[in-house]
Amino acid sequence: MANFECAGCPNALDNTMSLQCRQCNDNYHVACTRISIEDFSVMSPEMNSSWICDVYRCRQP
Ligand SMILES: [Zn+2]
Ligand SMILES: [Zn+2]
Repeated sequence: MANFECAGCPNALDNTMSLQCRQCNDNYHVACTRISIEDFSVMSPEMNSSWICDVYRCRQP
C-alpha cells in the first residue's frame, strides 16, 4: 500500500495540503507540521522538497 497516511495523525492524506520529509519520506498534513497554512502557501517548490519533519532522527545533522 502506498504511503499516503499521515505520519503525524491517524487520518488519510489528501494530496493537496501535505508535505513529505526529505529524510524519512514520511508524509504529513501541513496541519500536522509546525508550518502554518500561511507559510505553506508561500513556500517555494524548492523549500517544499527540502522540508524535514520534526522527528528526532531527521533533525540530526
Ligand atoms: Zn495528519
Ligand atoms: Zn522525517
